[in-house]
Amino acid sequence: IATLYVVATPIGNVTDISLRALHLLGIVDAVACEDTRNTAHLLTRFGLNKPLIAAHQHNEREVAQSLIARLQAGERIALVSDAGTPAVSDPGARIVDAVRDAGLRVLPLPGASAAITAISASGLLNDQFYFVGFLPAKAKQRETMLQSLSGITATMVFYEAPHRILDCATALAAVFEPSRQVVFARELTKLFEEIHRCPLSEAEAWIRADAHREKGEFVILLEGAPAEQDAQDVEAERILNILLAECS
Ligand code: SAM
Repeated sequence: IATLYVVATPIGNVTDISLRALHLLGIVDAVACEDTRNTAHLLTRFGLNKPLIAAHQHNEREVAQSLIARLQAGERIALVSDAGTPAVSDPGARIVDAVRDAGLRVLPLPGASAAITAISASGLLNDQFYFVGFLPAKAKQRETMLQSLSGITATMVFYEAPHRILDCATALAAVFEPSRQVVFARELTKLFEEIHRCPLSEAEAWIRADAHREKGEFVILLEGAPAEQDAQDVEAERILNILLAECS
């Protein structure tokens, strides 16, 4: 059965590519990719040279149809994005959807994803997470979106462009309780990797403390709202303390 291989690539350190991904990229007839220059560069690092098909957010639908025709004609094709796992805040989902709709097989080759990498090193104890991805760039829409997340009890995972990191920290601080823990996972797997955890009230100051911090790639994790029971316990304790103070 004709198969599209969805292949994760590194998010910084090229040696994070899997053996299986390297083997597969070595035997496919073509690689569909977000940016042909980036993928050519990655393949060259491993001595590979394959025909590349540009498949980015503006042409996914059309490319999907030509990929389906090529797969049906017996070609082996891999789909990659610029970094990490395709279709996770990256192009790919429309192609996968169309290929599945056409009755063909989609086979994922797992590997790096910035969200999972950040979670694994955050030390946040909540085992539930809510992937938000990129927030809207416009301040008003961003605030509306953040307000809608205020009751989420799972750890929230945000992706952010470097030039908006400070704006993002300010926007989070305006909506969520200052005591919530936040984790900035910056330049993961790269030379200047930094993973910093602090209360939200200290986030802006941490970014401002070093000019380098407004550069590079970031995942932001935000502690979820206290669970209903915890919130009730806190309130009960508060009332009990008032009563005890009255009695003494
Ligand atoms: N498909 C990718 C994945 O699986 O994680 C995500 C691609 S998305 C276009 C790029 C965003 O992912 C960046 O803006 C940043 O939020 C995050 N990111 C990617 N690489 C990263 C890294 N090395 N360190 C921290 N964040 C990273």
